[in-house]
Amino acid sequence: MRKSEEMSNSLTFPDLKPCPFCGEKAYLIVKDGVRVKCGSCGASTEVRVDNWYGKKPCGNATLSVIESWNRRENYREESDGIN
Ligand SMILES: [Zn+2]
Repeated sequence: MRKSEEMSNSLTFPDLKPCPFCGEKAYLIVKDGVRVKCGSCGASTEVRVDNWYGKKPCGNATLSVIESWNRRENYREESDGIN
């Protein structure tokens, strides 16, 4: 019998809080690592890199940036135009 592999792929992450600067919705950005970025003003957390499973990040980098965002730590307020 094979165990279901879907369970391990359906990690649940905390909901992202709205941007503290403008109150708009924030998104998880996966690009050379993971970070949380506001969809409106561009405020973001620092980029964290963790292990990768195929094309998806795994480990705790994703959870880490979400928690940083929600705790309002490590923000970078910028408009660097990278994205
Ligand atoms: Zn914002």
